[in-house]
Amino acid sequence: MKTKHFDLIVIGAGSGGIATAEKAASYGAKVAIIEKQQAGGTCVNLGCVPKKIMWYAGDLSDSFHYASDFGFQLAAPQFNFATLVRHRQQFTQSLSERLKKKLLKHKITFLQGSAAFVDAHTVEVNNQHFSATHIVIATGCESKKPTIKGVEYGITSDGFFGLRAVPKKIAIVGNGYIATELASILNQLGSQVKILIRKNKILSHFDSMISETLTDILLSKGIQLLYKHDTAEIHQHQGKLLVRCKNKKTITDLDAVLFAIGRSPRTQHLHLAAANIKTNTDGFIKTNKWETTNIPHIYAIGDVTGKKLLTPVAIAAGRKLAARLFGKEKKSYLDYQNIPTVVFTHPPIGSVGLTHEQAIDKYGRQKLTIYQTEFSSLFSAFAAKKFPSKMRLITLKKTGKIIGCHIIGPNADEMLQGFAVAIKMGATKADFDKVVAIHPTSAEELVTLKASNIIKA
Ligand code: FAD
Ligand code: NDP
Repeated sequence: MKTKHFDLIVIGAGSGGIATAEKAASYGAKVAIIEKQQAGGTCVNLGCVPKKIMWYAGDLSDSFHYASDFGFQLAAPQFNFATLVRHRQQFTQSLSERLKKKLLKHKITFLQGSAAFVDAHTVEVNNQHFSATHIVIATGCESKKPTIKGVEYGITSDGFFGLRAVPKKIAIVGNGYIATELASILNQLGSQVKILIRKNKILSHFDSMISETLTDILLSKGIQLLYKHDTAEIHQHQGKLLVRCKNKKTITDLDAVLFAIGRSPRTQHLHLAAANIKTNTDGFIKTNKWETTNIPHIYAIGDVTGKKLLTPVAIAAGRKLAARLFGKEKKSYLDYQNIPTVVFTHPPIGSVGLTHEQAIDKYGRQKLTIYQTEFSSLFSAFAAKKFPSKMRLITLKKTGKIIGCHIIGPNADEMLQGFAVAIKMGATKADFDKVVAIHPTSAEELVTLKASNIIKA
């Protein structure tokens, strides 16, 4: 069998794979990218982009409650879920097509099919062999499902994007990004939502202020948080679903059950063993800081490495790698410290740096000064139902260096990026104090924190 040779083969045309391929091609490398589904991967087709569109719909539905306070008398809004889904799908499909065209414009060979290693330099796609000097694995992750009876009745975030109607009653299993985001969206769009939490916290990996404030907000919106409800089995009865938990409690009369309990690496069809590529105990591909696997010319980037499952992380890691392999930036690698992140709940959450709990573990309470503020947005000034905002800045007592910033409230999503730049540059509380506030905004609160805002560390 004749083998076509490339400088670089990228497996997976998601956010990370596309970024790597395009950057490599910009240096003149001969590149092929292999994709078994649609260009754009999770983010474009079943993740960030369609999710943010749904988030906007939920956000808009909130605005109607406040319109009359500003003098607008609106008829009760009529919501057509099918229209929203149609527009969303048209948009993501066209985005995926544009991404594919852009790859071709960069003279990148696009191979549609599932890739598997034949040996450390060769991959097979549709019974054809392709070899390369460098190979990047960027195959992403897929949603986990628990191994319980009746698991087939449940959906994951992929199934959420396939919904044809808003489920009247839904149980969401999990407590992280996807569970809270989809619970919030569905609640805004009219679902009765119960979140089944196996332990006793939502967003358990976030700062405790964020977790506690979001808990209060979700409860105030009528979302039920059922703690210590570890799902044991699901049954279908007369068109409805029933969930039995290990604590013997039963949740009945459900239209849908959604699992959001983390994601596992998509490596099962890659035949990693043929190239002797090592994974860790959870199956994620092991890489060093240069994104290199145990095989020197094979690399892995993005979700499949399990390092930080975020689109801009996959993109940045891929671009840095391509710049190192094909450009002049021989020391180029991604620094995973201080990566900002947003949870798109209503209101959104922005977080960068250490949580309070991590800061205590790393430095000890006595070395920290923590500032906190709480207020309601001017947007809800006339309303009985306020838009709460809370912010926490974690600093080192001695130098004032900011090591963590956590925000929950309207516009936290748009607010965080600029503050993350400053924090990445090593900003101190004194640097923040030197900046003149922009008034009236929510963001100004972060540059006007005073001694009276200090809380017990
Ligand atoms: P992917 O985008 O998953 O791409 C991998 C590609 O590889 C896929 O297209 C797949 O079909 C292909 N592939 C797999 N195996 C093979 C094979 N053997 N041969 C050929 N092709 C193969 N992140 C954010 O930063 N912000 C958000 O708001 C956000 N929201 C999210 C919402 C949801 C519901 C989900 C599920 C994720 C969200 N994420 C978000 C995470 C984000 O989508 C991922 O971190 C990102 O897509 C990872 O990119 P990747 O390139 O590593 O993998
Ligand atoms: P997360 O890692 O955010 O949360 C999953 C949580 O579910 C775990 O931390 C665990 O919490 C709990 N859990 C695990 N197993 C079970 C189980 N069997 N039953 C009940 N609960 C369980 O995963 P998600 O699936 O929400 O999202 C996957 C990743 O995708 C995220 O980590 C994030 O990186 C990315 N993402 C990013 C978004 C964004 O940037 N806005 C949006 C969506 C996804 P505990 O141990 O406390 O029980």
